Amino acid sequence: MSPAPLFKRVLLKASGEALMGEQGFGIDVAVVDRIAGDIAEVRAMGIEVGVVVGGGNIFRGVAVASKGGDRVTGDHMGMLATVINALALATSLRKLGIDTEVLSAISMPEICQSFSQRAALHHLEKGRVVIFAGGTGNPFFTTDSAAALRAAEMGAEAILKGTQVDGIYSADPKKFPDATRFENITHDEVLNKGLAVMDVAAVALARENSIPIVVFSIHEKGAFAKIMVGEGRATIVRD
Ligand code: UDP
Repeated sequence: MSPAPLFKRVLLKASGEALMGEQGFGIDVAVVDRIAGDIAEVRAMGIEVGVVVGGGNIFRGVAVASKGGDRVTGDHMGMLATVINALALATSLRKLGIDTEVLSAISMPEICQSFSQRAALHHLEKGRVVIFAGGTGNPFFTTDSAAALRAAEMGAEAILKGTQVDGIYSADPKKFPDATRFENITHDEVLNKGLAVMDVAAVALARENSIPIVVFSIHEKGAFAKIMVGEGRATIVRD
């Protein structure tokens, strides 16, 4: 018999970078299909899943600001990029027969539903995967902050932060091979040590709402489901 899931409702944060695979830009459909498969596996365990997608594979607001443009407009472009990614992930999930709803923080009713907490809870209770697009809907924020915000709003028991590596290290393990890996760490330690896990606002919001952050490799097929039963490699951030 397979072990019982530890969670009833979780929020997955998938960065835009995760969706572009080996490409330098955009969406690699095969990679998005694989991530959708991992989400489907977790849904099949009876766990309710919300997903916040990033947009960095398409656009980041700072790119405009760094060339002398208006940051707010750049951030609007970044938020629109997250909608493109959300639609791509929804398409992959629906191909697998997973009932999926995209809720956007920026209203675009011809394309997807607008975000409200009530709508999100309704769809989750119906067993649908809910993809939160448009970040927080505000410039100067990131989709990491959107992940912490939506996790709090949906009453998620954990934020699953899918990254390029299998947890939190004292330094980037790709650049510093002798960096140490943390198994467990507190929100305060992450903030005090300035560890690059999620941005400060996101970690602070998760801390205030006592939401654990589980950092794992989004590239490891099946890792999401393993973590749901307390297996697999990950760093757990909790107080
Ligand atoms: N963004 C924003 N407000 C938000 C979330 C995102 O303005 O609440 C913009 C911002 O320009 C950001 C871009 O959208 O650079 C893409 O989001 P993010 O960088 O968080 O994506 P990721 O790094 O996860 O791919």
